[in-house]
Amino acid sequence: MHNYNPRSKNKRRQSRRRRKKRIQLFLNFFMFVCILISVFCIGILKNRENKADTDIKSFISSIEREADEAENRPEDLDNESEDPDNEPEDYGGDWYLILVNRWNPLPDNTDIETVELSNGERVDKRIYPYLQEMFDDAREEGIFPIVRSGFRTRQEQEDIYYDRLKGYQKQGLSEEEARTETELWVAVPGTSEHELGLAVDINADKIHSDGAEVYTWLKDHAHLYGFINRYPSDKTEITGVANEPWHYRYVGAEVAAEIYEKGICLEEYLGRVER
Ligand SMILES: [Zn+2]
Repeated sequence: MHNYNPRSKNKRRQSRRRRKKRIQLFLNFFMFVCILISVFCIGILKNRENKADTDIKSFISSIEREADEAENRPEDLDNESEDPDNEPEDYGGDWYLILVNRWNPLPDNTDIETVELSNGERVDKRIYPYLQEMFDDAREEGIFPIVRSGFRTRQEQEDIYYDRLKGYQKQGLSEEEARTETELWVAVPGTSEHELGLAVDINADKIHSDGAEVYTWLKDHAHLYGFINRYPSDKTEITGVANEPWHYRYVGAEVAAEIYEKGICLEEYLGRVER
């Protein structure tokens, strides 16, 4: 006999409904997880794309930057942004304060980049703008200087030295006497500031100005442009060079002002007096 039980039928229906609900819940959860995973994957892919994109962009901009720098280099006359490779390697300080005299010869490996002036003389390209400005201002005041001698190679300094030496020997001086006399006026090769490219011998054009006018103007104004009267008459003992009112040396405007105001020479300013 079949025992019909309405309560157990009800129970079965209820449990079926509950199972359906559970399946539904599980499906919902599964879909949620799927969505989460796909969002995560899309995020990673996007990120990778962006990274590749910025890598390419930075690569391109670095190439552009290098090209710009290469293009700008030749016109660059500003001494502040100068390539330090041009400095004498043996010298650790500021390029414009290097001391060269009979006790401090030039380092052998000096590599100087020069600029040619209209009369064929050359100077270190870093001092050119200041020299030009000084000459322009002098001319505006009716003073007409010229650069008689600028940068000299070692060979040129040797030629000048030995020509002078032979000249004195021809006049009857012994070799030693001739050397002493020569070295009063011409630096021994390797000890001349002209080999640095930072020194210029300035004369008058002798058409509009005479020597005295030019020397007087330079004595009063050169420091404003960064140049000093390198061998003053009262410093011969310290500099080792006789009075040369035409020889000017670039040391930068700040140092030139101090040297000018204190009435000292470069050796004294640097604290490197040998005698
Ligand atoms: Zn000189």
